[in-house]
Amino acid sequence: MPRTPSRRTALQGLAAAGAAVVGFDPFTRSWAATTTDRPLVGLPRLDGSVHTDDASLAADADDFGHIVHRRPVAVLRPGSVHDIVAMVRFCNEHGVSVAPRGQGHATQGQAQVDGGLVIETTPLASIGPVGPGSTTVTVGAGARWSEVARATLAHGLTPPTFTDYLELSVGGTLSVGGIGGQTHQQGAQVDNVTELQVVTGAGHLVRCSPTHHRDLFLAVLAGLGQCAVIVGATLRLVPAPETVRHYLLPYDDLRTFLDDQRLLVEEGRFDYVEGQVTADPAGAFNGYVLEAVAYGPPAGPAPDDTTLLRGLRHDPAGAQTSDLGYYDFLDRLAAGVAALKEAGLWAFAHPWLNLLLPGRSAATLAASLLEDLTPADLGPGVVLLYPVLRESLHTPLLRTPEDPVSYLLAVLRTTPPDDTATVDRLLAANRAAYDTVHAAGGTHYPVGSVPFDAADWREHFGPAYRRLAAARHTYDPRGILVPGQGIF
Ligand SMILES: Cc1cc2nc3c(=O)[nH]c(=O)nc-3n(C[C@H](O)[C@H](O)[C@H](O)COP(=O)(O)OP(=O)(O)OC[C@H]3O[C@@H](n4cnc5c(N)ncnc54)[C@H](O)[C@@H]3O)c2cc1C
Repeated sequence: MPRTPSRRTALQGLAAAGAAVVGFDPFTRSWAATTTDRPLVGLPRLDGSVHTDDASLAADADDFGHIVHRRPVAVLRPGSVHDIVAMVRFCNEHGVSVAPRGQGHATQGQAQVDGGLVIETTPLASIGPVGPGSTTVTVGAGARWSEVARATLAHGLTPPTFTDYLELSVGGTLSVGGIGGQTHQQGAQVDNVTELQVVTGAGHLVRCSPTHHRDLFLAVLAGLGQCAVIVGATLRLVPAPETVRHYLLPYDDLRTFLDDQRLLVEEGRFDYVEGQVTADPAGAFNGYVLEAVAYGPPAGPAPDDTTLLRGLRHDPAGAQTSDLGYYDFLDRLAAGVAALKEAGLWAFAHPWLNLLLPGRSAATLAASLLEDLTPADLGPGVVLLYPVLRESLHTPLLRTPEDPVSYLLAVLRTTPPDDTATVDRLLAANRAAYDTVHAAGGTHYPVGSVPFDAADWREHFGPAYRRLAAARHTYDPRGILVPGQGIF
């Protein structure tokens, strides 16, 4: 019987390859670093590879926030789902922390793990099969939503709900929720999953759904990676429009803007509703743009401006209308993101604030938070403000206010990463904003950077906390998964 290595030996084993890519050598039947040839101790046989070189560790000790840096001891690039099972079992046995990482677009170290193993899910990018009559598609957790959309649109089909940015992984957004302009009608991305394939923290590969291992299914969707690594997901599909009509409608009064948005989502008049807040030349955030989209055939009737805009109180002189291909509409951020990358702003710090305001006090809360916001503290970012309907949201761990309508307020700050004093001040401002909103019954949408401790999380999950904690105990008994969230 081989002696089971201790946690220390296991960590040394993970770290032993120094600056090399490591792999299993079928001839010597041992783990070897391909450049240093130093053996690794006790790691399971893998189809993919474990990396311990400086570039891999440094890349996974960073994220889109560029604020938190926790260095793992090794990075798994899985060659198969089996690799994830094997490495999670290995880490579970030795008490080594594990964090799956999709596209690393969290902003506060949520996918990072100090001294543990990062599992990069990018290689799990399978999609399909999908055909003309499909009502669902099964995809790998590392597939990006842009890839899923392109594959399904080839058959006239689409997932019902998207995030604004498509280059996020399926596993990454299903771990948080996945909210966008279609959410008021179609729910969040987590509400459109019929089955998950997961590897639990104990290293078991399990299929779960609303009818099979339901407790695990509900603990994983919007569960912030606390109970299992998502390796695959079956997503609902609906007929896609070929083109959409896109409206940008300006407002100069916050309450009128919010009331018109509310009217539109309650009526279901448009397929997509979002909105932005803009600053005037003096720096006051007092301009509002309602963004609404109506799908054309075959998903909807040919859009009719008179019917769609009836009764709205925007400034008609400033209204903009355009017809777009459906994928071009979904991917509308791509050009702006390319420009931000080109200008070096993608590498800036992103201390983002994402809150859900209860509809009953949204105008008062938004007015007071926007009054405190300066263009300097937003930087070259944007402020989003748009409603979601509670009746469309069915995932217990996606926490929303007790109100039929909530408004997502997203202050997407962008600031130089080396100015840590400003970053710290903005994080404190985010916390103060959260406290104000929470006191009024609002919630945190946990994709941004609000300093949170275990007591805050307990409060955040409210009545759902007990079930999440029980599922954690059952499925990740050693508590190795995703420490970067700071929940347990
Ligand atoms: C430019 C931009 C635009 C965005 N727009 C929206 C938007 O419109 N709507 C919206 O809802 N969100 C939006 N987000 C937030 C985004 O949905 C989340 O940050 C999401 O988690 C990022 O996905 P990712 O693949 O980068 O995940 P990562 O940052 O890699 O991981 C995020 C968290 O999920 C966990 N995780 C990742 N993969 C898995 C898995 N397979 N199994 C279990 N846990 C996993 C990680 O451990 C980590 O805790 C946006 C973010 C950015 C940067």
